[in-house]
Amino acid sequence: MKVVKFGGSSLASAANFEQIFQIITADSSRKIVVVSAPGKRFKEDVKVTDLLIDLATKALLKEETAELFEQIVARYQEIASNTGTELAVIKSIRSDLQAILASDKSNPDRFMDRIKASGEDNNAKLVAAFFNARGIPARYHNPKEAGLFVTAEHANAQVLQESYENLYNLREANELVVFPGFFGYTKSGEISTFSRSGSDITGAILANGVKASLYENFTDVDAVFTVNPAFVHNPQEIHELTYREMRELSYAGFSIFHEEALLPAFEAGIPVHIKNTNNPTCCGTKIVNAHEQVARPVVGIASDNGFSQIYISKYLMNREIGFGRRVLSILEKYQLTFEHMPSGIDDLTVILRDNQLNPDLEQTLIKNLTEELQADYVNIERDITLLMIVGESMRHNIGTTYRASRALANAGVNIEMINQGSSEVSIMFGIKKEFEKTAIRALYEEFFKSH
Ligand code: ASP
Repeated sequence: MKVVKFGGSSLASAANFEQIFQIITADSSRKIVVVSAPGKRFKEDVKVTDLLIDLATKALLKEETAELFEQIVARYQEIASNTGTELAVIKSIRSDLQAILASDKSNPDRFMDRIKASGEDNNAKLVAAFFNARGIPARYHNPKEAGLFVTAEHANAQVLQESYENLYNLREANELVVFPGFFGYTKSGEISTFSRSGSDITGAILANGVKASLYENFTDVDAVFTVNPAFVHNPQEIHELTYREMRELSYAGFSIFHEEALLPAFEAGIPVHIKNTNNPTCCGTKIVNAHEQVARPVVGIASDNGFSQIYISKYLMNREIGFGRRVLSILEKYQLTFEHMPSGIDDLTVILRDNQLNPDLEQTLIKNLTEELQADYVNIERDITLLMIVGESMRHNIGTTYRASRALANAGVNIEMINQGSSEVSIMFGIKKEFEKTAIRALYEEFFKSH
């Protein structure tokens, strides 16, 4: 049994619905379908989820919502009319959204989540009606009735363990299961959404719950690229990745598959296959537990911006008991989270996300760290980019760091920091943001072109 998830760009138009019909009916083991809200039909278009966020914001501000409301319903209507789907479903979509819009607004986060979730919920109803109209028995399943329970952290819900057992029952369904992505219910019956792009998470939870043989994730690209195509023209594709490699790449900006969706699939050992709705027979990218094919030492190169580094230097730091703890407790005092903390004998660097800092806080931090730690020198540097080269096989390959740093040196890129994670799945380089493009190209040349 396969769980198949379609992203918003695969469900934006009537033509997309025809495509997904072909995909589902081509393989009888595709029994559970998870859907996103309709996405963009063309480049400048707006995703239904973004329209819904706008709608909720306006409603909370008591502004006029009628026009936007009609615009949203029209998106479903267009698909229904052009696929010959019963228009009765549009009537119920309209009245459901109307009822949610009129519902209690005393907790704005709850209200926002209710509105946001309607994007997927209504699309699931539409998809089910569409399949039925085409003679394929299908049924919309409500996450509450199916037992998909989550925490009440709105816009960042986490699945509750008991959901997996509840969802196992979906195996018994005789008709095609159509399930809305992106949200679940709290134990007190409130809707709570995952973070953005969270339908990937729903798909992974269902795949785990029903113990699927495969989780197919349909999107709009043929495969995951080895590097961001914004930096390298027409880069090579990756056809196989391990969960750990994907995790590292998602951390540093590979956004094709939600990073929180990896865990449920990984825990149940279910492979994930990322595929293209527009080109479904193309090989795609498979995410597996261990490489089945011989893998190169480096499978992908990622980069992410928006980091700062706090550099702390103190002679004989290595002998001082509790030094690291004191650094971290100062960060804790200012509610700062850190990403990495490579250290030397007399120095330590803390890498953190830029958006947590401001010039005043930086000065306070420098003062606090210098005084409380009696440090010799403390400095904060902004605009740091983290480059990551990722590959499980690096562990058995000698010279990967050498090759990477030589490539960067030859390209004139100064390395501010190197950090090889203890897992040996990735090596990370901190560089100045202005060198990002040059650095990425140099690494791509080294690992994907010259050998
Ligand atoms: N529609 C939601 C979003 O745009 C969730 C998803 O598509 O996965 O974030």
